[in-house]
Amino acid sequence: MSLTDCKGIMVVIETADGAAKSVGLEMLTPAKEIASAKGTDVTAVMIGEGLEDAAKQAASYGADKIITVDNNDLKAYSEKHAAVLKELIEKYKPETVLIGATQNGKDIAPIVAGKLGLGCVTDVVSMKLGDDGKIVFTCPMYSGNILSDNVIDTVPQIATVRGGSFKKGEPKDVELPEEVVIAESMPYGDIKTTIKETVKEISEAVNLEDAQVIVSGGRGMGSAENFKLVEELANVLGGVVGATRAPVEDGWISRAHQIGQSGKIVAPKLYIACGISGATQHVTGMVGSDYIVAINKDEDAPIFDIANVGIVGNVMQVIPAMIEEIKKLKA
Ligand SMILES: Cc1cc2nc3c(=O)[nH]c(=O)nc-3n(C[C@H](O)[C@H](O)[C@H](O)COP(=O)(O)OP(=O)(O)OC[C@H]3O[C@@H](n4cnc5c(N)ncnc54)[C@H](O)[C@@H]3O)c2cc1C
Repeated sequence: MSLTDCKGIMVVIETADGAAKSVGLEMLTPAKEIASAKGTDVTAVMIGEGLEDAAKQAASYGADKIITVDNNDLKAYSEKHAAVLKELIEKYKPETVLIGATQNGKDIAPIVAGKLGLGCVTDVVSMKLGDDGKIVFTCPMYSGNILSDNVIDTVPQIATVRGGSFKKGEPKDVELPEEVVIAESMPYGDIKTTIKETVKEISEAVNLEDAQVIVSGGRGMGSAENFKLVEELANVLGGVVGATRAPVEDGWISRAHQIGQSGKIVAPKLYIACGISGATQHVTGMVGSDYIVAINKDEDAPIFDIANVGIVGNVMQVIPAMIEEIKKLKA
């Protein structure tokens, strides 16, 4: 494919139970900015089953065009999705393809890049248009200790984008004009995988990535019994429980709650860190939170370096006091 053939930004929006995943809608924000600076448009692509509502969501968050490949065969993610996306890229020739860095996104991006011989960057946390008209993708390296700026020489080019890196725009109440949605049915080619059954893991039930409030506990909670205080604080705030790797390894809470380099990447409005030291491997997963409150008995704990509010104290005294005050406020 030559440079002159390709234009526009294709945003691949993953869906779950008929709804667009947050990261897909978040990616529309930088895509629209860059596309408008380049005088091109943004096409949302959805591959799955029952995509009508998700297509409406994509339109309300500003996609200019929506391509749906809606088929019962594509309900569960498989190599068929990669085959379909490859065909779509060949047909519609976007200059840039953005894919959420979810488990499936991390799988499909290199497969499609490999099949088409395209350059691919992963785990993008920021992007901007360079002076030469090429997009500069910023990605964390070495557990987030440094950020690297990357430019991809191929066109089209593929990037996976970390959830929570961009804010969703304000949704508009739009009707979905027929011409905006293109229903496609792409061939799969020679597929070797057959999905017999899909089993939902517990981790899918813990929706940390889309949570607005997260209360996380670390080793400083001391025991499984004490960890229940983290759950109680999360409950009164209507939030979700997170954890560092330490309590997961001690069996106080399931791995589905782990946040960090080898856990989930989150970006809630409010993150309360209880008895957490602030190791790089944890911080890399939550540093994108809007407002961070840290409770630690050690005033030199590194978590205070990134906290908006630091409370130096014993979690066993501070958390019950917080719960009591919040309950009073809500009464
Ligand atoms: C390859 C690799 C991947 C990793 N991936 C992850 C990951 O995804 N997520 C993750 O979290 N970690 C991960 N880790 C582990 C990480 O390096 C840290 O060991 C871990 O984050 C520490 O968890 P913590 O803060 O709960 O415990 P600690 O570092 O032990 O900190 C406990 C804190 O609690 C405070 N404290 C103790 N008692 C109290 C009290 N009563 N009141 C208030 N404060 C108290 C202490 O002052 C201390 O600061 C990874 C490590 C490696 C090598």
